[in-house]
Amino acid sequence: MLAGCIPWPDEAAERYRSRGLWRGESLGGLLRTAAERHGPAPALVHGGRRISYAQLDRWVDRLAGGFAGHGLRAGERVVVQLPNVPEFVATCFALFRLGAKPVFALTAHRSREIAYLCDITGAAAYVFPGRHRGFDHPALAREIRAGTHGLRLLFALGDAGDDLIDLSTVDGEAGRLPEQDASDVAFFLLSGGTTAIPKIIPRTHDDYAYQCRATADLIGFTAADVYLAVLPLEFNFTWGCPGVIGTLLSGGTVVLADDPTTDDCFATIERCRVTVTSLVPTLAQLWLEATEWNTRDLSSLRLVQLGGARPARSLVERIGPAFGCELQQVFGMAEGLLTLTRQGDPPETVLGTTGTPLSEEDEIRIVGEDERDLPGGEVGELLVRGPYTLRGYYRAAEHNTRAFTADGFYRTGDLARLTANGDLVIEGRIKDVVIRGGNKTSAAELEEHLLTLPGILRAAVVGLPDELLGERIGAFLVTAGTRPSRHELNQGLQQRGLAEYKFPDQVEFVDELPVTPLGKIDKKALASMTSRDRPSTAHEEGEHGDQFQGNHGPAGRAGATRDDREVDREPARGRPA
Ligand code: AMP
Repeated sequence: MLAGCIPWPDEAAERYRSRGLWRGESLGGLLRTAAERHGPAPALVHGGRRISYAQLDRWVDRLAGGFAGHGLRAGERVVVQLPNVPEFVATCFALFRLGAKPVFALTAHRSREIAYLCDITGAAAYVFPGRHRGFDHPALAREIRAGTHGLRLLFALGDAGDDLIDLSTVDGEAGRLPEQDASDVAFFLLSGGTTAIPKIIPRTHDDYAYQCRATADLIGFTAADVYLAVLPLEFNFTWGCPGVIGTLLSGGTVVLADDPTTDDCFATIERCRVTVTSLVPTLAQLWLEATEWNTRDLSSLRLVQLGGARPARSLVERIGPAFGCELQQVFGMAEGLLTLTRQGDPPETVLGTTGTPLSEEDEIRIVGEDERDLPGGEVGELLVRGPYTLRGYYRAAEHNTRAFTADGFYRTGDLARLTANGDLVIEGRIKDVVIRGGNKTSAAELEEHLLTLPGILRAAVVGLPDELLGERIGAFLVTAGTRPSRHELNQGLQQRGLAEYKFPDQVEFVDELPVTPLGKIDKKALASMTSRDRPSTAHEEGEHGDQFQGNHGPAGRAGATRDDREVDREPARGRPA
């Protein structure tokens, strides 16, 4: 196992193997097997590009050979920041085959996040787009290289200058690719983040192959299925629940959408006869509204998976009828555990719960503050361990002592209860994260950045209810002297290199932050306050980044500037101020 990662204890690993969950398969090998079975069938479709299994398999080998030719070695980490394009899939599988480890970044990430990821993982390479949605990624890559020790290789999607390697020129004889140890890490996902510094999640070949196979089996994926990947590929939901990898294991077709607008996606569903897709509630809401005037034929859809954030009941009820297909609720996390509703579940289970765990080997507990198990039906923190839930974050020994119990249960930070039938209902969370659309922002991280800006004495970041986004980011600030304008705040955060989806939607200036009897900032009180309740405060809202979904704005405003984001602004209007 790669240094800095924590393996499952032998006894658990042996059980997962003996029960046939972990089969010693590598992710790169799974694509090879699929290519042998489904060679001429279409594996990937992107716009007018169609890539068969055989072509993808060959491309992946040549890319692996090319990466090796550039000196990339097994075990080295590679930060991958690409939009939903075939190169994302090919690059990751090439790295899997080489034994190098992709580290998934969001395309919305900027210098702060990318520099951190390169540093903490000791990345040897970074793969990024050219100019994408108006942002100059090659310039960022040069800046990162100048400040990052050990980053040797910069691969750009497209020709971005002589000092960068054009990914399309990476090509070579694969030769004898090293045999992969399936119990080793295949790649890294990013955690939704409760800490000021995002944590990195190692996923092994064994555990991820199991997750993808089991979710594919659960929804009955076959070679006839066409999966539309509309959320960012770097989301666990899109990549492996069953997502891209599950589709490829089944011989189906992955259609890549880099633009989630309904015009584009509905046309794609009609043209490619899409059968399954996965949506976060905010996007589902936008799609639902669009069905009212839609003229496209969506009848090929058989299943919409809904997850990533808690949906409103009214939304859940409308999806099946509006799309004329089945709905599946999915609760999950990049750390592992998935719970899902099943085909044939009673309507109340599908509409009102997130179903049961994926695996018989998932062990879940609902505990009180004293960490004792609560009686059935009571709401407490959800703890989990199992065959695809990590045992420790990468290079985070100190944090791991808090994030896990002594016997290896992961503390999810989610508040949940179990129904009498054993279905999970998510009731809230204790972790200090704002879930805006599908994106997670750690309150501690944003607070830390706000506190570095001139004149800000204290800062508290709180999720505020929002009809479309689920939550929007509220920042309560105590300032000294002149209050910074929204423009100045945003500029300050931008200069710090923070991704725009983490910027506050609403800023409230307060004289003091309320505290609990224990002296902690009382965020519940803040969340329930409005400016009207507090005449001493000033309130500003409206300006926000256009990226609720990483690089995927809800209305597909490719290249939208910070001044034409009506959709994000809309839900914040009309709030008491
Ligand atoms: P991530 O690892 O970024 O996918 O974030 C995982 C977190 O998203 C979970 O721990 C939950 O807090 C939240 N989440 C994911 N799916 C759901 C859901 N169906 N309902 C409520 N919260 C969810």
